[in-house]
Amino acid sequence: KVLESSSSRKAYEEAAKRLKLEIEDREKILPQLRVQSRRKYLEKRKDDKVAELEADILDDEYLFEEKILTDRERKEREYKKQLLTIAKEHEKARELERVQRYHMPQDVKKGETEEYVEVDERERQPNSEQKKWESEQLASAMFQFGAKDAKIKDEYDLLLDDQIEFIQALTMEGSKSKDKKPEITETEKHKMDIEETKKSLPVYPFREDLIAAIQEHQILIIEGETGSGKTTQIPQYLYEAGFTKDNKKIGCTQPRRVAAMSVAARVAQEMGVKLGNEVGYSIRFEDCTSERTILKYMTDGTLHREFLSEPDLASYSVMIIDEAHERTLHTDILFGLVKDIARFRPELKLLISSATLDAEKFSQFFDDAPIFRIPGRRFPVDIYYTKAPEADYIDACVVSVLQIHATQPLGDILVFLTGQDEIETCQEVLQDRVKRLGSKLKELVILPVYANLPSDMQAKIFEPTPPNARKVILATNIAETSLTIDNIIYVIDPGFAKQNNFSSRTGMESLMVVPISKASANQRAGRAGRTAPGKCFRLYTAWAYKHELEDNTIPEIQRINLGNAVLMLKALGINDLIHFDFLDPPPHETLVLALEQLYALGALNHHGELTKLGRRMAEFPVDPMMAKMILASEKYKCSEEIVTIAAMLSVNSAIFYRPKDKIIHADTARKNFNHIHGDHLSLLQVYNQWAETDFSVQWCYENFIQYRSMKRARDVREQLVGLMQRVEIDMVSSLPETIPIRKAITAGYFYHVARLSKGGNYKTIKHNQTVMIHPNSSLFEELPRWVLYHELVFTTKEYMRQVIEIESKWLLEVAPHYYKAKE
Ligand code: ADP
Ligand code: MG
Repeated sequence: KVLESSSSRKAYEEAAKRLKLEIEDREKILPQLRVQSRRKYLEKRKDDKVAELEADILDDEYLFEEKILTDRERKEREYKKQLLTIAKEHEKARELERVQRYHMPQDVKKGETEEYVEVDERERQPNSEQKKWESEQLASAMFQFGAKDAKIKDEYDLLLDDQIEFIQALTMEGSKSKDKKPEITETEKHKMDIEETKKSLPVYPFREDLIAAIQEHQILIIEGETGSGKTTQIPQYLYEAGFTKDNKKIGCTQPRRVAAMSVAARVAQEMGVKLGNEVGYSIRFEDCTSERTILKYMTDGTLHREFLSEPDLASYSVMIIDEAHERTLHTDILFGLVKDIARFRPELKLLISSATLDAEKFSQFFDDAPIFRIPGRRFPVDIYYTKAPEADYIDACVVSVLQIHATQPLGDILVFLTGQDEIETCQEVLQDRVKRLGSKLKELVILPVYANLPSDMQAKIFEPTPPNARKVILATNIAETSLTIDNIIYVIDPGFAKQNNFSSRTGMESLMVVPISKASANQRAGRAGRTAPGKCFRLYTAWAYKHELEDNTIPEIQRINLGNAVLMLKALGINDLIHFDFLDPPPHETLVLALEQLYALGALNHHGELTKLGRRMAEFPVDPMMAKMILASEKYKCSEEIVTIAAMLSVNSAIFYRPKDKIIHADTARKNFNHIHGDHLSLLQVYNQWAETDFSVQWCYENFIQYRSMKRARDVREQLVGLMQRVEIDMVSSLPETIPIRKAITAGYFYHVARLSKGGNYKTIKHNQTVMIHPNSSLFEELPRWVLYHELVFTTKEYMRQVIEIESKWLLEVAPHYYKAKE
């Protein structure tokens, strides 16, 4: 009947199309959902979950019995069944966990392979002096504790009240090259002069061939193992070969800020220049370069911005798109942009460098550009899996580190965690346990690495480990390929990473912890085999590796919000995005959604052209919603406040800290800043009070606020104020009035609005999604009727983080064409 009239037929077709998109969307998020549920089960340890799911499926069976199932319903049932299998499996796992006490694998003697023999030969290398000294030190230490030590060995099981059983699955092979020289230890490296260190890197023997290849070809793909010297050495070779004559620069992009800073610092040191002079870096909100800079490291996002002021990259003779395999959104877009430029700037050299096997794909994209392979050196790595899934991977990391430390020969440990919070927790627990174990164990130096870590702290990870001690590095996946830390023998891999994900169905973007891909897992394992044969402990089962991990990580362009990218491309005058030269095109719906969002924000007109507002928005290196908020502060006369809020939001998670022994004090201090209308205003109060004390360190200390984060907020604020002057916005204040401030925020973030529903939950306006106020929010207990959130974070629930109270009528005022159209 539905098909009778042509108009209803159209409606039907549209509905069918929507349904199809929805199903596709669902398929995309399925693996993520699976993990969320896995975590949920494990974290909450709810015993009745299995029963609940079973009942649910039964219900469905009953309901669906009579009907013919649609594809979608079938999918949903499949999905529920999968959940059930997983839930059951974890139930079983937990049982196992209760009854077994575990032991570390004994030092494996298996496979006297060629590689192992070669390691023995290391002892005969020049560094044997060093070795001898170390073992003497070791012996004397043992001697001191002599009698006690023997007893300790027996006490390990008692000492480590919790242990994990690992099963060795396979050995990841080392490279086969004959002339494999053992790498030099870190300690020794520091003794060597810089020149020798440079010569010891795998890329060194190829430098002349490489330069010749670059001279011959305009575009070259470079492939080489992490740590072979691509990032630090190649720009220097280019410099030595004269590519920086005629006032031209060599640029090198990095997907991560930390990598850009750290690598630039290293190269400046190698070249004996001050960082910021000949060698510099440029990242968002921080430009450490000068007139003299000839080697410039930058984030891919920064280069993307540079196109706005220099569309032909005229000041560069060579551009290196490094870490291409990471496939970040910016890097992906840069591919298209630089490929275009290469056509009309034949003298510009382009290098695309990658750590993994994507080289062929890059080559094809760049009109069959030749691939230059740098043979790597790699020692074999033994891979271990847990026998059963681990309920709490942070705890499992701590246990594994101690297990390794107690039972395995010296050598540093690298632990992969998903973010700063986890790293801090892990560090605390680990420090605590080590303290309790006292002098029974050797010294354990615990070092964190993550994006927001101040650079002097970052530098610590490259310092040599003290003799007779072991270094443990707790890192985000920045240590997967961007940074190479020498001397790692053990890798602990829980198998997760934080990822930004966007659903075109719900239009929502959220940061969540997802399982890594097999490719990532193998990169991580590879970190253990750079200087000697190593071991990688995966905190998941071999079954999970095989069945639950995707082969490759999905490129960012296919999973995140494209608003920012689209705005930038439009600002570059690229109007036809559908036909833009993408390595892998983004999903059509995502692109359309980004265009819609920019239209709703007023950045595009209904022809899809950039408006005056859009042009001004593109000046700001922030996402389009924040840019709109900043520009709206002009109308609402509260630019002083909004720019502070924008700056504070950019560093937000790292502002308050809670030392373990002073949690109550810290929480009280934090509450003092709480603003009745919400968190953006609380952040504003923090900043303004700090400013009143003339940016005092003492004040931060007393109020449990991270001084470094505040300092960064101040820098960001300064930069933003500079940009506001460029678009001619006067700095004015609306305080004590906060309504204009909240209206300006709403003008940018009207997509992020939720309304109170039954039971203290909120429903988002756009998609009726259930969300909750984060317990850290000042509105957590207030529950206002209408709220606006800055971001959604998925942990155990979908939480809104940074929330303010708004009035629904403002929505019509700030976004009339958007909200009216929808009602
Ligand atoms: P690739 O880019 O091929 O992965 P890199 O050029 O980053 O390799 O690294 C080459 C060598 O330089 C590695 O041994 C690494 O440990 C060292 N290195 C890189 N950055 C630093 C730093 N900031 N301090 C000390 N050593 C570093
Ligand atoms: Mg590199």
